[in-house]
Amino acid sequence: MIPALMPTYNRADLAFERGEGAWLWTVDGRRFLDFGAGIATTSLGHAHPHLTKVIAEQAARVMHVSNLYRVPQAEELAARHVAASFADSVFFCNSGAEANEGMVKAVRKYHAETGHPERFHMICFEGAFHGRTLAMLSATGNEKYLAGFGPPVQGFDHVPFGNMNAVRDAIGPQTAGIMIEPVQGEGGVRPADLRFLRELRAVCDEFGLLLALDEVQTGMGRSGKLWAHQWAGIEPDVMSSAKGIGGGFPLGAILAKEKVAKYLKPGTHGTTYGGGPLACAAGNAVLDVMLAPGFLGQVDGVARLLWRGLLELAEKHPKVIEGVQGAGLLLGMKLRPEVVNSEMQAAAVAEGLLTVAAGMNVLRLAPPLIITEAEVAEALRLLDRTCLRMTPSAAQVAAK
Ligand SMILES: *Cc1c(COP(=O)(O)O)cnc(C)c1O
Repeated sequence: MIPALMPTYNRADLAFERGEGAWLWTVDGRRFLDFGAGIATTSLGHAHPHLTKVIAEQAARVMHVSNLYRVPQAEELAARHVAASFADSVFFCNSGAEANEGMVKAVRKYHAETGHPERFHMICFEGAFHGRTLAMLSATGNEKYLAGFGPPVQGFDHVPFGNMNAVRDAIGPQTAGIMIEPVQGEGGVRPADLRFLRELRAVCDEFGLLLALDEVQTGMGRSGKLWAHQWAGIEPDVMSSAKGIGGGFPLGAILAKEKVAKYLKPGTHGTTYGGGPLACAAGNAVLDVMLAPGFLGQVDGVARLLWRGLLELAEKHPKVIEGVQGAGLLLGMKLRPEVVNSEMQAAAVAEGLLTVAAGMNVLRLAPPLIITEAEVAEALRLLDRTCLRMTPSAAQVAAK
């Protein structure tokens, strides 16, 4: 019989009842070091005292009122995001896919309102992940995810990640913008070259296209800067955020330049839950922590430590790890073809470490941004033991 909880996931047989910082405890009392952070989402760790206090206090006051009224928590959060980014205006929603949907709508609307309704195509990249709604499945372009769900939504053209010639070739009279993750997360923790990002900015300017960044996974401090595109020294026209922006409370956002945002007038886009008092209180609490002096520098420092440790592990275990890639605290171990990432993930669980598999046989590490140097050292020790477990024997290698 079908489980009452719809079986859309192959879940590990672990149920957690309590967390603190980078640690989680199962209902049967086992402790795990959490280097998955709910898929790069619980960026302040579990049960962060400031975040939980703010959420509890706000929930006890008023949780939801709808966007028929002013929401001071949303006004404050938007103003703070505007002050800390390229953006002039922010729309709040509830998830990454929803933020991306709104972002693409904003790009299409901009061209429609500036006399080019025929420009509605986004150039997207092979290996991308933009979410699970019908349109974002098309933006993602992965045949496996699209299969069985009818005709794809029109207007998403895919080119190889990092290939500037292919981008130029794909630009036509219908092209509206370019949509890219600064680091492909689900696709395999593949960072875009900073030069490639700069070239995308330039080609958008050359052809009057909008640069739309999906920073759902890379944003909110994960790269060691508030937004990953800041490493390239560029500004997008519009950007999506979710995952870390609410610290584990569902919250998404579209951040946009005025020239794009000004066409999203009343009636053009909406949400019932989005930008409510509770989610935005959580968002403000996250910013209180992340914008405090020294926080992002600390993330950058601890990320470099993890990076160096992973390189050492790769050198020590060449039969398991092929290479290390990523940025900040979004790092991936590219595994040898003989080593399957989901099996390595299970082996890490057996050692007490939570990680997340990603595409292209990569094991993803996305710890909370509050991890300490001692926790990085502990994770590296557990990964070392995991690599030993996963080292294939000579016979296994020969058989493959
Ligand atoms: C997770 C993710 C999404 C989808 O976010 P949801 O909240 O699951 O809808 C979109 N884009 C990127 C880059 C992501 O990592």
